[in-house]
Amino acid sequence: MSSKKDNFSTRLLDWHSQQHRPMPWKGERNPYLIWLSEIILQQTRVEQGLPYYERFKAAYPKVEDLAAAPEDEVLKLWEGLGYYSRARNLHFTAKYIARELEGEFPTTYDNILKLKGVGAYTAAAIASFAYDLPYAVLDGNVYRILARYFGIETASDSTAGKKEFAALAQALLDVSQAAKYNQAIMDFGALQCTPKSPTCTACPFQEDCTAFQTKSIEKYPVKTKKLKKRTRYFNYLLLNTTEQIIIEKRQQKDIWKGLYQFPLIETSALATVAQLQLDEVWQQYVGNSNYQLIRQSKPFKQTLSHQYIIATFWEIQLSQLPSVQDNTLLLARQDLYNYAFPKVIDWYLKDNSLYLNLI
Ligand code: SF4
Repeated sequence: MSSKKDNFSTRLLDWHSQQHRPMPWKGERNPYLIWLSEIILQQTRVEQGLPYYERFKAAYPKVEDLAAAPEDEVLKLWEGLGYYSRARNLHFTAKYIARELEGEFPTTYDNILKLKGVGAYTAAAIASFAYDLPYAVLDGNVYRILARYFGIETASDSTAGKKEFAALAQALLDVSQAAKYNQAIMDFGALQCTPKSPTCTACPFQEDCTAFQTKSIEKYPVKTKKLKKRTRYFNYLLLNTTEQIIIEKRQQKDIWKGLYQFPLIETSALATVAQLQLDEVWQQYVGNSNYQLIRQSKPFKQTLSHQYIIATFWEIQLSQLPSVQDNTLLLARQDLYNYAFPKVIDWYLKDNSLYLNLI
């Protein structure tokens, strides 16, 4: 393995010198903007994250601007990007930097790593891109490249694997040009050694890439855990009069904390009206009032990293809306668009054609 190791970074940097993949954050030295781009790009494709980065940069050019923004505004700007804990952590950390650190972004790897929402990968990216500190990035792309090229059999999601990959990634780093090297390996994972159908035929590592030479690209990186996704059934009650509708803010420690939704009844399978009527949320909002069930939507399915959400929307007309509690709002329908909702609710709001007729 040692000779493969020796010229890895030279070949990678040679490859990179031929590539042109302009990104607005490339060559950026401002740690705040690098951090912003890295948080936005976590678990997000570049094409999807790019407009969000531009919007955040325009709305909050400095960390103090982000710190001063109301949380609802930040979540609204984040809407559609998913993994909302990232947005909440982003906001929390901006306030921490603005207030506790007097607007000065930390300048060492260890202090960057202490920021909420910043893991080893993001800390290495910020430390190298902003300050050229010698820390190698290690994310899914790097695991995949190293596992394939070196034919690593240790599971990348095991404790031993994480250690082994981290040590190898750090050993391969060209410490004299950390920012360049990290950018190169990230681009290599995005453009050449992609998860599906890597372009091996035009790859500078092809001759001694273990995965390619043994025709076992699909096998790498080896993993131990297979996540089984659970399915959850959400029934949203669109409780409205001709003028107003009820929404509430999600408070519980669960997905989508801080976003808005319609009153929700979660069931273990697709529900009937009779089942919903027995639920305490129904009792709380509808109780014995006169109501009319106007329509029921088709189920909408949203896939998250660990779960599937099957959402059905029940439109219920009441002559009068109940009094609302904390975290609940009565709104004119057209004002719904000022609030940040989970994607599945957005889909519903944008597609009102998918109704089932109620008998
Ligand atoms: S030969 Fe294929 S699998 Fe090996 S490093 Fe290159 S692109 Fe990746």
